[in-house]
Amino acid sequence: MTIISLFKDTCPTCKQTLKHDKSEALIGRIVKHCPEGHYEKEYHPALETFVETIQH
Ligand SMILES: [Zn+2]
Repeated sequence: MTIISLFKDTCPTCKQTLKHDKSEALIGRIVKHCPEGHYEKEYHPALETFVETIQH
């Protein structure tokens, strides 16, 4: 199911569930990150898009 995979919030490296930083929601920015620091996903309301960062 491709649709489900789009909403899957897990790290592509270690497969752990991403942590949601609630403090960022106050300014309209949503950041989810891997607890091990491999991956970060940030939602920009102004751009209406996600920015993904993968740490190598
Ligand atoms: Zn990870």
